[in-house]
Amino acid sequence: MVDRKWKIFSQRSNRKDMKAIKATFRGGIHPPAFKYLTQNKPIKNASLPSRVVIPLSQHIGAPAQPIVQIGNKVRAGTKIGAAAGKVSANVHSSISGQVKDIKNFFHPAEGKSLSIIIESDGKDEKEFLKIGENADLFSTDEIKEIIASAGIVGLGGAGFPTAVKLSPPKKVEYFILNAAECEPYLTTDNRLILEKTEEIIKGMKLAMKVLGVKKGYIGIEDNKKDAIKRLSHFQSLEIEIKVLKAKYPQGGERELIEAILKRRVPPKGLPYEVGVVVNNVATIFAIYEAVYLRKPLYERITTFSGDALRQAENLRVRIGTPLKELTKECKGFKETPSGVIMGGPMMGLAQQSLEVPLVKGTSGVLFLKHSRWARRKNEMKEENPCLHCGKCVEACPVDLNPSLISLATQKQKWNVAKELNVDNCIECGACEYICPAERRLMDMIKEGKKVTGFKPQAAGKKKKNFKQDQELKLLS
Ligand code: SF4
Ligand code: SF4
Repeated sequence: MVDRKWKIFSQRSNRKDMKAIKATFRGGIHPPAFKYLTQNKPIKNASLPSRVVIPLSQHIGAPAQPIVQIGNKVRAGTKIGAAAGKVSANVHSSISGQVKDIKNFFHPAEGKSLSIIIESDGKDEKEFLKIGENADLFSTDEIKEIIASAGIVGLGGAGFPTAVKLSPPKKVEYFILNAAECEPYLTTDNRLILEKTEEIIKGMKLAMKVLGVKKGYIGIEDNKKDAIKRLSHFQSLEIEIKVLKAKYPQGGERELIEAILKRRVPPKGLPYEVGVVVNNVATIFAIYEAVYLRKPLYERITTFSGDALRQAENLRVRIGTPLKELTKECKGFKETPSGVIMGGPMMGLAQQSLEVPLVKGTSGVLFLKHSRWARRKNEMKEENPCLHCGKCVEACPVDLNPSLISLATQKQKWNVAKELNVDNCIECGACEYICPAERRLMDMIKEGKKVTGFKPQAAGKKKKNFKQDQELKLLS
């Protein structure tokens, strides 16, 4: 129940406060949002797939180990892969039917990976988690165990096992619900807030209970007015809404923490080091469903959008459904897409086949005609020389010099790239997006991270005015 006093206070002051307070972070860009394509589309159930391909690796950490054999009968929610280590996650069947094969198959991020292929029996029988009935009485350890049993991982795309994230090595002060959804096109979190507000608040309170924190923030961008209005009914002394300036990558954990709490997560550090744990809306909703509805993570909400689709949608889809089947839910293509991107256009992954299955971290799938994003993800273009305009430096949210780093990696000066802190890059793509010379900065920066990460070299003593010195050397 909403605190009555707070409700009266917030009704009077919310509108004014929300207009006035628009926190943000340093750097960032303003790409066109394209959210109008799906933001008013209610969540629709996708048809039951006839076959699913469920990868055992859908999370950061060790892939799950298969615990079924070919020929076994399963139901939606049957555990088919067991977490293999501390940082790993269970995997469940998303339909009822029979295990047909266990083999390497297309994977959206790994090329191919070991997957369990299940054919539907059309019955859609369910298997629920075996837990107690009264969710409000669960202890923090019990909630964590349920989250782990349900195979919940970060559904914003990171895929970090949530039970591990909610067990930080030291006590934290705050929980932040990441409702920023700053990637263009994506509207799943926005729809969830509009359609499942109460459930999300309950999920958030579960996360806060597990962490033992008394204060939670909801970070949401100012372009989601309806969602802000819905959430404001649930604002209390315990849960505060922070309206943020719409800017990419506002939904990055570091950027969100900086905008809301003015704390900077150290490079290569984690949010708990500054006293915070962050989860996104879809993850919190999955926690609610596991704890209150005993439901393992076998389906999720995903935005299907882009100008090549006949009809953009927000769909509730069974994990493991091949993209090909899902495009039928959107009435197919207006035109053959020149780019298919899983995730948002900024950080998503280009896909080469529509056979690839939807996985836990798939917040969106974009089918693009000839947009800049489709080109960037698909074409290896000739490099244009750097104009030294400095726009990439201005845009970088972690204070890097992408121009210099890219020049260093191009010339294979790995020590220089390391000195320029290439490994602090969060791969947000803001620098590449803003670059007027259309340089493929991300490829060069990723290469630098890979090489310097695998082969740490003595970077030498840091000189005074290092950047200027190197700039002269690199540009000569
Ligand atoms: S250098 Fe990395 S962190 Fe900085 S803008 Fe480019 S991709 Fe983002
Ligand atoms: S934005 Fe592009 S052209 Fe401008 S300094 Fe950076 S790399 Fe060079």
